[in-house]
Amino acid sequence: MPATKAYATMDAKSPLGPYEITRRDPGPAEINIEILYCGVCHSDLHMVRNEWGQSTYPLVPGHEIVGRVVAAGSAVTKFKAGDVAAVGVIMDSCRRCEPCGRGEEHFCREGATLTYGAKDRIDGSTTMGGYSSNYVVHERFAHTVPANLNLAAAAPLLCAGITTYSPLRHWNVGPGMKVGIVGLGGLGHMGLKFAHSFGAHAVQLTTSLKKKDDAIKLGADEVVLSTDPDAMQRHAGSFDFILDTASAPHALDPYLSLLKQDATMCLVGLPEKPPSVNVFSLITKRASVAGSMIGGMIETQQMLDYCGQHGITSEVEVIPIQQVNEAFERMLKQDVKYRFVIDMSSLK
Ligand code: NAP
Ligand code: ZN
Ligand code: ZN
Repeated sequence: MPATKAYATMDAKSPLGPYEITRRDPGPAEINIEILYCGVCHSDLHMVRNEWGQSTYPLVPGHEIVGRVVAAGSAVTKFKAGDVAAVGVIMDSCRRCEPCGRGEEHFCREGATLTYGAKDRIDGSTTMGGYSSNYVVHERFAHTVPANLNLAAAAPLLCAGITTYSPLRHWNVGPGMKVGIVGLGGLGHMGLKFAHSFGAHAVQLTTSLKKKDDAIKLGADEVVLSTDPDAMQRHAGSFDFILDTASAPHALDPYLSLLKQDATMCLVGLPEKPPSVNVFSLITKRASVAGSMIGGMIETQQMLDYCGQHGITSEVEVIPIQQVNEAFERMLKQDVKYRFVIDMSSLK
C-alpha cells in the first residue's frame, strides 16, 4: 500500500491542500500510473464545494489524467511499464450488464464507479482522483494516447473531449448542419473544435464577447453574444443542434428559440440549480431537450485516436498544483483559456 501524495479538501468550504493517501498495489489486470498531468474540470469545483449535494470528504478531485505506467499486473495486455496511459471520469463498472457489454460503461446498470468520490468495487474504499502522484486502475478503464499529442494538452480530452465528442457524434453533426455551442470554457472549446472538424457550420454562443477572436481561431464560423436579444433574434429558428456546456444556472428558452423544427438542444453542463423550460419553447417546434454524459471506453479511445489523426488537443494553461485554488476562482470568473492543467511534478 504505497503512500501517495495528493491534494484534498476536508469539507465544502475549505481550499484544497496537501494530503497523503494510499493506493493498493495493482491487481493482475491493473496498472499503476504515475500521473504527469491532470486537467481541472468545472465538475471538480462543483464536487469540491458540494454543489450537487453528493460529495464526501476527504475528497481528492481530478478525472483528466495522463501519466506513465510504472507497474502492470501479470494479466495486463494493453500496457507495459513506461507506456503512456490516460484515465477519465470512470474507473470501473460492473463489466457484465448490457451497456457494459456494448462498451457503454458510463451507462452501467449498477452505476459506474467514478474516478473520485465513489465506492471502489474491489476494496470498498472511497476512490481518490487525479490531483495526486499515482492512480491504480483496471486496464479496461485506461486509454492509450496517440504519440503525436502533447500530453498536457491531451489530458482534458479525457473529460472535456469525450463529453463534447460523444453527443456531437450521436446527433450526427456534420456538413450542412448549423451547430451552436453554448459557453466557451473547457468543454465548450472542445465542442467547438469537434463541430468545426466534423464539417458543421459552427456557431459559438458566449456571454463573453471578448472571447470572439479566440472562438474564430478555434473554429467558429460565427460568434453570437447570447445576452444580446437582437443578436439572438437574427439566428431564430436556424440551428440544427445546440450543445449547452454552461456551468452556471441560465434560462434555456433563449437558446431553444434558435432551434429549427424538430431540432435538439443537448445539455452537458451541470449547473448547481436545475434549469427551467417554458414548455411553449418546445411545443411550438417539437423541439427536444436532451442530455449526455461523458462516453464509454470504446468511444473514448475512438475520440483520442480521432484527435491523434486530426491533431486536436485542448488549449491549456499549465499550472503547479499550488495554484489550483486560484484556478478554481478564475474558472468561476470565466477567465480560463481554455483549460487549466496541473503539472503533477509540482507535487513532489
Ligand atoms: P468552464 O471551463 O468553467 O466553462 C463554463 C463556461 O460556461 C464558461 O466559460 C462560460 O462561457 C459559460 N457560462 C458560465 N456562466 C454562464 C451563464 N450564466 N450563461 C451561459 N453561459 C455561461 O466549465 P467546464 O469544465 O467546461 O464545464 C462546464 C459544465 O459541464 C460544468 O457544469 C461541468 O460540471 C459540466 N460537465 C458535465 C459533464 C457531462 O458528462 N455531462 C462532463 C464534464 C463537465 P462564456 O464565457 O463563453 O459564456
Ligand atoms: Zn470533467
Ligand atoms: Zn455494467
